Amino acid sequence: MTGGTRGIGFGIAARLGAERFDLAVCGVRARDEVAGPLRGLEATGAKVLYVEADIGAREARERLVSAVRSEFGRLDVLVNNAGMAPRRRADVLEVSEESFEEVVRANLQGPYFLTQACARWMIEQRKENPDWHGSIVNVSSMSATFASTNRGEYCISKAGLSMATKLWAARLGEFGIPVYEVSPGIVKTDMTAPVEGKYDELIEGGLTIERRWGTPDDVGRAVAALVRGDFPYSTGNVVHVDGGLGVPRL
Ligand code: NAD
Repeated sequence: MTGGTRGIGFGIAARLGAERFDLAVCGVRARDEVAGPLRGLEATGAKVLYVEADIGAREARERLVSAVRSEFGRLDVLVNNAGMAPRRRADVLEVSEESFEEVVRANLQGPYFLTQACARWMIEQRKENPDWHGSIVNVSSMSATFASTNRGEYCISKAGLSMATKLWAARLGEFGIPVYEVSPGIVKTDMTAPVEGKYDELIEGGLTIERRWGTPDDVGRAVAALVRGDFPYSTGNVVHVDGGLGVPRL
């Protein structure tokens, strides 16, 4: 999976470790900066591989996939979790092309081409062994459908990832590989720390039906259910882990 050492990614990895999956996680931080979380994941009983890799860079994606090949020799699940918010929230009238490119590269282009590389490998495995089963999960966001004019490039990247889920589901169906989208609402992580006060107030005021922040474990449990096979006949679909935020209400 991408990410995995903090926030939602850690919540997903911990649940998958508890499900007896071995784990390959990645991130932009150096290995010694993530030693603590890696020990936490190992405590689930999983074998854990960490690769320092920026998924926006082709060379890093290739390095990541070959590290998984040499460490585990197989790939059953890909979770595209890693993502970034714009470094600076800027109005759509002001935003720079640099920020647009950086966010779209990390949140959309990276996962799209990592999926391509992993899907090719999964197809190989399926052809060698018809009993092999795999799956792919993309972590998108409520921002795939909610327009926030102060982070348009993030919304566009997540809307694109949502379409990528449909495209890969359609393409990989013949190989029996389901592709799902998990769309978190407002989850307490480092990413939302800068806007914590604002969301505390909105949640208190009824923004979500379930009046609390989402947790990384909420998302981890949804992903675990999907990759365990608990949502058969559902490829290409979206699971909203958002406390009902997306329910239109009067
Ligand atoms: P976070 O900032 O706490 O963690 C992001 C993780 O992704 C980190 O481990 C980081 O190293 C990794 N990462 C970021 N850019 C990367 C890159 N280019 N290459 C490799 N790794 C990279 O964020 P989070 O809140 O845990 O978010 C995880 C995912 O969930 C993201 O895709 C985010 O867009 C999405 N999401 C978060 C929320 C929320 O409320 N926190 C809501 C909806 C969707």
